[in-house]
Amino acid sequence: MKYFFEYHHWIGAVQLWVENDGQPIATEIPHDRRHINVTIGNKRVITINLPCVVDVNTKGEVQRGKLFNVRLNELKSGKTFDRSSNHIMEKLVAKWMRKDLVKHPFVFYCLDCDTPVISSINCKRIRDMPSEFWADFMDYWHCHKPDMEPHQKGHHVAASETLLHRYNNPLNPAVGEIMLSDSFIYINKDWIPEKFIYDEELVRSRSCNTVIGSFTKEGSVRIGKWNLRAEIGGFLDVFDPSNYVLYQIYNELKAHSIRLFHLKGDDKRYIIWVFGIGSCIQFDKSRMLNNCLKILYRDGKPAESEKNQNIAELKVEENSALINFIQHLESVNRQLPEELRLLNEWKVSYISCE
Ligand SMILES: [Zn+2]
Repeated sequence: MKYFFEYHHWIGAVQLWVENDGQPIATEIPHDRRHINVTIGNKRVITINLPCVVDVNTKGEVQRGKLFNVRLNELKSGKTFDRSSNHIMEKLVAKWMRKDLVKHPFVFYCLDCDTPVISSINCKRIRDMPSEFWADFMDYWHCHKPDMEPHQKGHHVAASETLLHRYNNPLNPAVGEIMLSDSFIYINKDWIPEKFIYDEELVRSRSCNTVIGSFTKEGSVRIGKWNLRAEIGGFLDVFDPSNYVLYQIYNELKAHSIRLFHLKGDDKRYIIWVFGIGSCIQFDKSRMLNNCLKILYRDGKPAESEKNQNIAELKVEENSALINFIQHLESVNRQLPEELRLLNEWKVSYISCE
């Protein structure tokens, strides 16, 4: 018997689905209100750990086809939640950023051959870029300046020029400096040239010849985080290439609140629709996935009706990252109970932002 639940903590609701063959189902919530016992046809009992303490008086049950649905409300604890999606979005931050690297010694290894490539030993300075798409953000910021009282204007202009000075310069880290965006590490090409082979526009690992990066327009070395393995403060970690797509989606969500996306790879096109930001999901006894985006997706171009909506076109320059992102959506879609996999022409999936 398969089950799946979705927990929306900001509205305090748990939706549980149990697949069955239409036999009668009975449920019972023990005293601790953290579990639910499910009995099918007076025989099998499974105990499901719930993600929160639930209010037994609000249980709603319905059988639809081969799917049994239980809706539960979280027991009110007096806590109040900030329900705005902005609050949840603030928690979504990329990994391997300055805050992670300044606290501990670190080494980045080539993922393919495990040779150390960049380490904290010779690193003099670490900086975050404001965003992968910092230039776009500057435009946005300048088009949406808040209205200022005349007496504030002088100060505002000064602040704006400082920002321009900081970010509108060509992106060029100094020797010994690491600049970090959500998905890339930027360094000066003259810093540690013995680690790389510079092959026209491409940057290869010296010891295994694998392409791990490229040159920016300004001549800096840009390495995809997913081509590296990190050891930070003794902990090993890898970077899922699908994050490259996910972070672009975050940035659009954060900056423009856009929910509908047209993803373009080398030859594939997808339309995705993002909602349910911040929910937690779990399949059977597997680990609960936190901070998920619920995603509806389909391949192809936008329909005529969608072209009039606020749709963001994302050209995914790393085709392998797009393939990886879609594979991830497909794999979660296949784990869902069959009757939840499709919503009209859309496939349903989730991706965790952790
Ligand atoms: Zn290598």
